[in-house]
Amino acid sequence: MICRDAVAALRALGGCEVLAVSRWYTSPAWPPSDQPDYVNGAVLLATTLPPMALLRALQAIEAAGGRQRSVPNAARTLDLDIIDYDGQMCDTPALVLPHPRAHERDFVLLPLADVAPGWRHPRLGCSVEALSARLPGVAARPL
Ligand code: AMP
Repeated sequence: MICRDAVAALRALGGCEVLAVSRWYTSPAWPPSDQPDYVNGAVLLATTLPPMALLRALQAIEAAGGRQRSVPNAARTLDLDIIDYDGQMCDTPALVLPHPRAHERDFVLLPLADVAPGWRHPRLGCSVEALSARLPGVAARPL
């Protein structure tokens, strides 16, 4: 599975240690389309890489995983995002922290709760569990 390969690539990344890997979840493509379901997960990392260096490393792993950047929301083989980096807040064109849509997405919050129970959204101050409970619906399912 591409996701397991991505975790292996993270384990091999200099300056990064994989501390936890969530269960894998399957969820319909968002926005709704006839694309096949996606598989989502979360990885808890300890890293010495600063945020932008980590983002570049993730993009290199995406490229190695065959990702082609075309139009927004086009079907993608691998999409690696930084959800949170040590509670830092950042708002630049290249990097927004925490990830601006993470708190709205079941397929982010469920795996995030696996690897970081009790995690608090740095801007909203709510726990991952409270954010999940507030979702209008949950389509993501553990594989
Ligand atoms: P996506 O197509 O969802 O992978 O978005 C990729 C673009 O989002 C890249 O150009 C990144 O520079 C930008 N970006 C901004 N914030 C983040 C983040 N927290 N994690 C990953 N990509 C981000």
